[in-house]
Amino acid sequence: DPTTGKFNVSFIEGDGIGPEISQAVKDIFKAADVPIQWEFCDVSPIFVNGLTTIPDKAVQSISKNLVALKGPLATPIGKGHRSLNLTLRKTFGLFANVRPAKSVAGFKTTYSDVDLVLIRENTEGEYSGIEHVVTPGVVQSIKLITRDASERVIRYAFEYARAIGRPRVIVVHKSTIQRLSDGLFVNVAKELSAEYPDIKLELQLIDNKVLNVVTNPASYTDAVSVCPNLYGDILSDLNSGLSAGSLGLTPSANIGNKISIFEAVHGSAPDIAGKNMANPTALLLSSVMMLNHMGLNAHADQIQDAVLSTIASSPENRTGDLGGSATTSSFTEAVINKL
Ligand code: NAD
Repeated sequence: DPTTGKFNVSFIEGDGIGPEISQAVKDIFKAADVPIQWEFCDVSPIFVNGLTTIPDKAVQSISKNLVALKGPLATPIGKGHRSLNLTLRKTFGLFANVRPAKSVAGFKTTYSDVDLVLIRENTEGEYSGIEHVVTPGVVQSIKLITRDASERVIRYAFEYARAIGRPRVIVVHKSTIQRLSDGLFVNVAKELSAEYPDIKLELQLIDNKVLNVVTNPASYTDAVSVCPNLYGDILSDLNSGLSAGSLGLTPSANIGNKISIFEAVHGSAPDIAGKNMANPTALLLSSVMMLNHMGLNAHADQIQDAVLSTIASSPENRTGDLGGSATTSSFTEAVINKL
């Protein structure tokens, strides 16, 4: 924004614990003097011709600003409601879901040296929504793989690996069985690899990959993995479980050609909403990914260091999900003191 000298970013605070963890982000960004002006968006669902959609004002804000931070959205249970998250993904063509999973010092899990990066194709594969009954008792579900969608997500994986300084891209597949569909995904990767001589392309079967990740996660600290939709859905949760063990710690990015939306992986946590108990770390680390995406790397590093050193410092500074006694607001204050 030329009048303020700041970047305008759309902010969907979300439902349940959304407003509380969003407040933490707002307070910490203010204290760190991040040159961002928030544009708050209401995405309460609208129903048009039986379809769920988001208000025009929110679509316009995100289309104009190109970058958005998003809290969790509760999906109403009942028929006729398409998840708002899916609606956002479709509306803005968010084709890649980036999920880093890194061990956090001060919170002990099975492994202490996990540092995995996974990129999941987000628009097709088994999630194409094409299913039909052939005859009673026989259904067919179609896994759709296209050259275009494969190319944009694999290209993004090569670019991301280069940007974060990782020399290997691993394509996860099952082309031994899904010969045509995963075969196409793998072939596109091989073709693109010629454009990235500085990055080594490796292919790994999904079953081998799962075994390797759970037995030796540290062997992937120099790699970015990329895979079709369903493998990515499952593998990303496995990665999060290995690294963090708490949903309150895992960030993510949804990347499109122009627009990107950054969000915590967890949901609206209705069981603890309004109780000042939620851990804002996942949304904060998502906002750190957003700052890096925008080239505001120094601010990203400063906030990430403050968040992680607060968690590492003592159990009183950790929220309940990490076995500590901190509230959302006392954790936020401790982070601000570390900035
Ligand atoms: P959830 O992630 O909201 O909660 C699962 C468990 O993790 C709960 O016990 C919760 O208290 C805990 N938890 C989650 N985030 C936490 C945090 N930041 N700090 C501390 N504890 C945390 O999953 P759910 O209960 O299955 O879903 C609740 C609602 O959220 C549903 O309406 C669902 O559709 C929605 N949801 C939204 C998103 C999204 O917007 N991206 C993702 C998942 C679920």
